[in-house]
Amino acid sequence: MRIANLAGRLVLLAGDGAVDVERASGGVFTADPQAVYERWEEFAAWAREADVSAAEPYEVGDLGSPVPVPRQVFAIGLNYRDHAAESGFAVPEHPVVFTKFVSSIIGPTGDIALPEGNVDWEVELVAVIGRRAYQVAEDEAWAYVAGLTIGQDVSERVMQFIAPPAQFSVSKSFPGFSPMGPALVTLDEIGDRDDIELGCVLNGESMQKGRTSDMIFSIPSLVAQLSAVLPLLPGDVIFTGTPAGVGQGRKPAKFLASGDELVTYVKGIGEMRHRFV
Ligand code: ZN
Repeated sequence: MRIANLAGRLVLLAGDGAVDVERASGGVFTADPQAVYERWEEFAAWAREADVSAAEPYEVGDLGSPVPVPRQVFAIGLNYRDHAAESGFAVPEHPVVFTKFVSSIIGPTGDIALPEGNVDWEVELVAVIGRRAYQVAEDEAWAYVAGLTIGQDVSERVMQFIAPPAQFSVSKSFPGFSPMGPALVTLDEIGDRDDIELGCVLNGESMQKGRTSDMIFSIPSLVAQLSAVLPLLPGDVIFTGTPAGVGQGRKPAKFLASGDELVTYVKGIGEMRHRFV
């Protein structure tokens, strides 16, 4: 199943079209894309049987984030071996956790304004929580994940490293710095959920290309370790870290400039397309 946020309304994607969930369910489910995660199991059961014959064509530019206002956003630093190496850090023994503030979330297309500094890209697979998770065992953790989407952990590196220790959260939370989309895809549609290709392409040139099997802490491991500390709530998201190839790690370093187009993809989910201005 694929769900999306079409101009602020929850839709089920079917082929090239979209079905409005509130109308198709006769009002059983509301149009609010964020509210669906509170009733995820009930919704998933309805969606499996839903009549999608009335799916209508839609504009990709009208899609918003499939998770527009999560209560908690977790993000993991240095979670790929090759990215830890290019950043000059040892492979961490515990997850490095920060947040991206919710006001930085946007959808899968559109313009992102460049603040002063060195703005960099980080393709990430994003896990969306579908069930309250507290002190969950790693081998049961996938059952708490509603599905996966694509994220960009856009980062301004000057502010990030302006003083020791690094301050990840604020430097990665300028407006538009947390795009997600184009859809939330459930796990049954993902081939091997532990080995997914992801990458990003800047002005037609590949910058990052990695596989989630290179993660130091897998999604189940992150759910277990985060939920050991605090409850993960329905509709929360986890940005799971980025593989090698960020601008800061290149020789010479490379950062985003006005007019640049960044395409961010995860195989089996789709792609996002943003322009920096
Ligand atoms: Zn990141």
